[in-house]
Amino acid sequence: LDVERLIELFLEQVQPAINVDGIAFETAESTVCKQGRLGPHHAQYQLNVSDVDIGSIRFHRRRPFREQELEKLEYLLSVLVCPLRNGLMYQSAVAAAYRDPLTGLGSRRALEATMERDIGLALRHQYPVSILVIDIDHFKKFNDGFGHTAGDKALRATARAIQKELRLTDPAFRYGGEEFVVILNKTNSKDALGLADRIRQRVAKNVLDVAGKNVEVTVSIGIATVEPNDSTVSLFERADGALYQAKNRGRNCCIVAIPALPKVS
Ligand code: GH3
Ligand code: MG
Ligand code: MG
Repeated sequence: LDVERLIELFLEQVQPAINVDGIAFETAESTVCKQGRLGPHHAQYQLNVSDVDIGSIRFHRRRPFREQELEKLEYLLSVLVCPLRNGLMYQSAVAAAYRDPLTGLGSRRALEATMERDIGLALRHQYPVSILVIDIDHFKKFNDGFGHTAGDKALRATARAIQKELRLTDPAFRYGGEEFVVILNKTNSKDALGLADRIRQRVAKNVLDVAGKNVEVTVSIGIATVEPNDSTVSLFERADGALYQAKNRGRNCCIVAIPALPKVS
């Protein structure tokens, strides 16, 4: 189901029968993959299954293709189209599962995978990683007072405010209903707190227009920085504990989690 691998295998299967140096496969959205050498001559085919366009494939080499070779290629292509269509459908299903449709941020599933990877890397290479757990204040009251559509508008506005403060390389996720998580690679707690507070201020300044009324939204933020024995769960729990303290302190504020005490055996 891996499109890249499928094209690679296809090239391997084609090469004994026809001398092809490389293959480029593109969908309407983007270039999906290139395999082998892309020489100056090419034969291009638009692929479709049941009248649905799935992309175009180009066979490359140094010499032009002969008519007989093209016939063989066309025959072999008929074997590729269905697995390729399945691979593309799988790829887009995975991409959809990794995106939150309401805000466009990463989904909870994407968060779990990214956190696992980033924390593992940080621990191995010994650089800091901090996470922010951001929760909208009194959002139940907001929904009850202004309705779910306004609630959804507030969620989108909050996601935008978070993204505006981040570098392109800092991934942000919608973790639950009105909860967001940001992973800050190579960022210590002091800098993470600075950034968290800029997010908090930006959200608070962002007055929403709900049916002609100006409405404010605020967030509370818990911050934690990775420690040598951390797992994704323990890091997340510390940030969530700090968020709980921020709520108790009156909301619309940021709190950094105290580092866990080292275990004594
Ligand atoms: P706190 O300040 O302690 O966080 O209070 P809260 O009301 O924000 O927290 P609580 O967890 O009690 O309520 C969260 C509310 O978020 C419940 C629900 O009305 C709302 N919510 C969750 N998901 C969605 C969503 O997708 N859209 C909308 N509009 N509202 C949602
Ligand atoms: Mg919540
Ligand atoms: Mg809340």
